[in-house]
Amino acid sequence: NTFEALQISAETQKALTALNYTSPTQVQQAVISTFAQGQDLLVKSQTGSGKTAAFAIPLVENIVWEERRPQAVVLAPTRELALQIGEEIFNIGRFKRIKVETLIGHSSFQAQTRNLKERTHVVVATPGRLLDHIDQGTIQLDQVKFIVLDEVDEMLSMGFMEQVDAIFEQLPTKRQVALFSATLPQAVMDVADFYVRQLALIEV
Ligand code: AMP
Repeated sequence: NTFEALQISAETQKALTALNYTSPTQVQQAVISTFAQGQDLLVKSQTGSGKTAAFAIPLVENIVWEERRPQAVVLAPTRELALQIGEEIFNIGRFKRIKVETLIGHSSFQAQTRNLKERTHVVVATPGRLLDHIDQGTIQLDQVKFIVLDEVDEMLSMGFMEQVDAIFEQLPTKRQVALFSATLPQAVMDVADFYVRQLALIEV
C-alpha cells in the first residue's frame, strides 16, 4: 500500500511527500490503478476520502509537458471547489511544472484569457465560465484527453447538466472520462450511461 507500488513518478512522489501524503487512501489506490488501464470511471466517494488527489495524480502523471493546449478538464459545481481542486493539482504537479488554470465566474475573464494563451496543461472550471470561454473562442479543447466531473450529484441538483453536455460536445470523442459523486441515485447512473463506455464502478 504505497505510492511507489502504483508506479508514480519520482517527481510526483516528491510532491506527495511534501504534502505529507505518505500512503494512498483507498479511493486513490482504486482510481489510480484503474485509470492507468485507460478505463472510464464512476467513483462513489465522499469529501475527505482523498478523492481530489485520486484524480489529480493520474492527470498530472499523464500530461505531456511540451503540448501547449489543455489536455485535461476538471468540472466542479462551485467556484470554491474549483479553486481547491486547482490548488491540489498545482501542488501535486509542481515538480513536473504542470500549468493549471482555474476558470471561474467573478474572476477576470481577461486574465484567464491571457493565461490560456500561455501553456495550460489542466483546466479546472465551473461549467458556466468554461462555456463563456468556448463561446468567445478563447480556449481550444481539441487536445483534451481527460475529463473529470466532480460532485456529479451536486451538478445535477444545481441544474448544470445542460451546460456539461454542451462542453462534452466540444471534446474529442477519444477521451477518458472520470465521474465522481458522493451519492449514486438513478440520475447519476443515467449521466454515467450517457458519457461512459466500459464503465468501471468504484465504491470504497
Ligand atoms: P478530499 O477528499 O480530496 O477533499 O481530501 C481530503 C483531505 O485529505 C485533504 O485535506 C487532503 O489534503 C488529504 N489527503 C488526500 N490524500 C491524502 C493521503 N494520501 N494521505 C494523507 N492525506 C491525504
